[in-house]
Amino acid sequence: MQDAIILGGGISGLTAGYQLQKRGLDLSIIEKNVGPGGPISTLRSQGYLVERGPNSLLLSDPWVESLLNELGLADQVLETRPQAKKRYIVKNGRPVSVPSSPLQAIATPLFSLRAKLGFLGEPFRSRISDQRGDAETVASFVRRRMGQEFLDYAIDPFVSGVYAGDPKQLVLDYAFPLIRGFERDHGSLVRGALALKRRRKREGAAYKKRSISFREGLGALPATLARKLGNRVWLESKVVAVNRMEDCWQVTWKRQGENFEGFARHLLVCLPAYAIKRLAWTSDIANPLQEAPDLPFPPVHSLALGFRREQIEHPLDGFGVLAPSKEPTTILGALFSSSLFPDRAPDQHALLTTMIGGIRQPESASFSQEKLLEIALSDLKPLLGISGDPAFVHLSSWPRAIPQYTAAYGSWRNTLHGLEDEFPSLHFGGSSVDGIAMGAAILSGKRLAANVEEANQV
Ligand SMILES: Cc1cc2nc3c(=O)[nH]c(=O)nc-3n(C[C@H](O)[C@H](O)[C@H](O)COP(=O)(O)OP(=O)(O)OC[C@H]3O[C@@H](n4cnc5c(N)ncnc54)[C@H](O)[C@@H]3O)c2cc1C
Repeated sequence: MQDAIILGGGISGLTAGYQLQKRGLDLSIIEKNVGPGGPISTLRSQGYLVERGPNSLLLSDPWVESLLNELGLADQVLETRPQAKKRYIVKNGRPVSVPSSPLQAIATPLFSLRAKLGFLGEPFRSRISDQRGDAETVASFVRRRMGQEFLDYAIDPFVSGVYAGDPKQLVLDYAFPLIRGFERDHGSLVRGALALKRRRKREGAAYKKRSISFREGLGALPATLARKLGNRVWLESKVVAVNRMEDCWQVTWKRQGENFEGFARHLLVCLPAYAIKRLAWTSDIANPLQEAPDLPFPPVHSLALGFRREQIEHPLDGFGVLAPSKEPTTILGALFSSSLFPDRAPDQHALLTTMIGGIRQPESASFSQEKLLEIALSDLKPLLGISGDPAFVHLSSWPRAIPQYTAAYGSWRNTLHGLEDEFPSLHFGGSSVDGIAMGAAILSGKRLAANVEEANQV
């Protein structure tokens, strides 16, 4: 019998496995795909470096950075170029830069004078009324504190960029818990943000957050972890059933038509919510899981488009452009990938990564590459002044891309916590539990490994 079996070889499962392996535990990671890392995967083609899923990792926790150092990835880290700090939002069909100083905020055409005057009143607005409680949506909160225009031209595109989601459906406490704390503890977003900054400075904990990638793309991280884990990672292995036995877990998976079985004291579940629900579990686990609501997982298409630089009039001096749902654009946005990091496109060429789909367009799951290309070009050509056809096209489609932390997430998480309380050797993690960004998934893996270690010490 092994110490642990980890279901799912995404970044959370790999991080958990690596931590447990370092502590000398015997484990297996079972992953259905041919490669590790879930959507974190990079390819090089015709001189372009294409990120099929995530494009950047926000380093916001020193532990994640120390993990990269320990893995020997420090000298491959690339920080986003300084000129990529600028962000654009579509307004009236034009890309408008997001203000980054008080002076720019006064001058920006992104918001009307009335909306700008309204922002000044934010610190004096009253706190949430009780009846809205912890189920308040992001949209309701932002409208209440900052007004409709801020929701439409700042938060809505931001939520599309991060969640491919809809602020009217995401619950603030689940999707952005820090923000709720600003209002609860300080009565205002502005006062809360300033207080956090002061506290971090006082505690000397002013860790400098930054967005990074690696010279060979983000895929280098799961690839390195998987290499360190060696034959503990079972690829092309689809978990089908989990049986709770008296003193261990029995896991069954299929690999190339053959059934395999493993037994372990701890079970770490790092799968998306829908995959957890699909497994054949022992009934005392299956029943609560079936009763828990489904988390929406909208599709996202990532369409990499390469152009000769002279085909694009826009300076591409930024991170990218996001499209608010109020605008007639269909795309969610486009990253200026070759401006973000060096060596993403051949000399004198540019790479744009266009995102299409999300909760705004669930029907896009069935769109062909031809149709997606047509959508992308009809939006991007007038927006960025592009002429002619792309020299390079690569499509990566994620039919169930990102879990949405809607009202359903509260009872989903409670169900998992209830099961963990009942069965202390069962641990749930990953982006359907601990936060949807790559950094959160890494920290989730760390948390699960620590839980196992703690349980072993009791
Ligand atoms: C298009 C896209 C763009 C993104 N952009 C960013 C970004 O720029 N920055 C950022 O921080 N985050 C981004 N994210 C989110 C980030 O990719 C995730 O937070 C992170 O990869 C989640 O890791 P995980 O381990 O929790 O889950 P996953 O990576 O989903 O891992 C779960 C694993 O379980 C496997 N699996 C499923 N069912 C079974 C089964 N039955 N048996 C065995 N294995 C199974 C899957 O194949 C998968 O590998 C993006 C995501 C997508 C899809």
